[in-house]
Amino acid sequence: MLVMDDKAEVLTTTDRAFHSERQTFPEPSIVRLSYYVKVPYEARVALNRRAVFVRDGHRCQYCNAPAENLDHVVPRSKGGAHTWENVVAACRPCNARKMDHFLHETNMRLRRPPRAPRERIWILAAVGSVRSDWEPYLRAETAAYAPSLSA
Ligand SMILES: [Zn+2]
Repeated sequence: MLVMDDKAEVLTTTDRAFHSERQTFPEPSIVRLSYYVKVPYEARVALNRRAVFVRDGHRCQYCNAPAENLDHVVPRSKGGAHTWENVVAACRPCNARKMDHFLHETNMRLRRPPRAPRERIWILAAVGSVRSDWEPYLRAETAAYAPSLSA
């Protein structure tokens, strides 16, 4: 464990604890790495349905109705990539209406340009909620992406 190896420092803890045979450790809530350990992978969040829905607040990015599908803004059949910048949550009617058209061939508009999410959204996708004691450590700019955390 990083904390036991002195590679990391516990900044805040939860009210739970881990127990070993001889010792009790408070459960860390926030841990700061004491030195650069290793970036585990390219700092892009994995694209999946749940994460896209969380990013988009479970709303259709064309009409704001509850989203049910993923839509490729540039259709896959026309070379559109399966990337954060080209995938949005969409309701079934919008998804069906758009079909294999380019956006400019329709009268539909995106409510905001799709972007790769930052760390907050990664946390949401990974653990489902952001603890209040994590807030000061998250960049303010990510707050714009925080939907009501009903997800
Ligand atoms: Zn829609």
